[in-house]
Amino acid sequence: MNLSKITTPSRIRAIIQTVFAAYCMYIGWAFYRFVTSGLSSTGGAATRPSSVEAFLPISAFLAFKRYLATGQWDSIHPAGLTIFIAAIAIAFFARKGFCGYICPVGLIERTLAAVGKKLGLRREPPRWTHRGLSVFKYALLAFFGFTVLRMNVVSITAFLRSEYNLVADAKMMAFFLNPSGTALVVFGTLGALSIIVPYFWCRYLCPYGALLSIFSFWSPIAVTRDEKACINCGKCARVCPGHIEVDKKLRVNSPECIGCMQCVESCPAPNCLTTKVGKKWKISPLVPGILSVAILLGLYLWASNTGHWDSQIPGEMLKRYYMRVLGGM
Ligand code: SF4
Ligand code: SF4
Ligand code: SF4
Repeated sequence: MNLSKITTPSRIRAIIQTVFAAYCMYIGWAFYRFVTSGLSSTGGAATRPSSVEAFLPISAFLAFKRYLATGQWDSIHPAGLTIFIAAIAIAFFARKGFCGYICPVGLIERTLAAVGKKLGLRREPPRWTHRGLSVFKYALLAFFGFTVLRMNVVSITAFLRSEYNLVADAKMMAFFLNPSGTALVVFGTLGALSIIVPYFWCRYLCPYGALLSIFSFWSPIAVTRDEKACINCGKCARVCPGHIEVDKKLRVNSPECIGCMQCVESCPAPNCLTTKVGKKWKISPLVPGILSVAILLGLYLWASNTGHWDSQIPGEMLKRYYMRVLGGM
């Protein structure tokens, strides 16, 4: 068996993405059991999976600002804050590895892009359109960022302890279980757009990805191109999920790079595209993915062993809130 054929960056990425997506589905199922056990008259022994807080990025953003201002870790959704910091740390060290390997929406977008390619529907927008559309996600980030920055610690603390925030995860679950007609149209439109234009949501609309783009700017890991070895075939640019002109750069420092290393894998010219730390140290193209997972798991282990992972709100109290807010679910 040829191990190098199995351990290609795209295969390793697919394995990591699938594992995290399966874990998210398990989390969704476990959380559903926890919430419904609170809504039933007989109750139940289901426990709340703290990882569900990964789906509350606004709450985590506010908790992050409060942590920077006061040094206090959020006790309501602590796992959400841990995951938020892990995503930023990954961006600092391994580009947008959170997008490339961990976020389940990234896998959905990758799958839709593959469907579009298979059906012959895939179209890349002209560069100027691509740049113009990319502004939207930064505008959304600016809106949320401005709102968070304007809030002082007192109002952030009040929000974090509000009933709205306490049951935000359960409300989100209820929303996805019973989507409105408008929501279905929006999801359907975004899905169709992502089949035609690869990674439409991630490239142009996701404010979380935009935030990670900013932090990834300082990442020491980047793809570098040896101009002398390049045969100008353009394959690297064609496979890039971020629509980056890899074939025209010497070092890919783009905020759109998700560290997937598909460009390195697809390059037919020996030693032309390489993964490097800084300008000199060549590393395996598998490093960004492995490092992304290591940072997330490392922070999870730290948080779960130091009381920074599970909510301090007792499960029974949460269930009473669910009963009041979602009783008719
Ligand atoms: S851009 Fe947003 S939705 Fe897409 S992979 Fe990144 S965090 Fe997930
Ligand atoms: S530049 Fe390479 S590593 Fe970065 S997103 Fe594009 S294909 Fe992936
Ligand atoms: S795939 Fe490699 S050889 Fe082809 S344009 Fe890109 S860097 Fe050059």
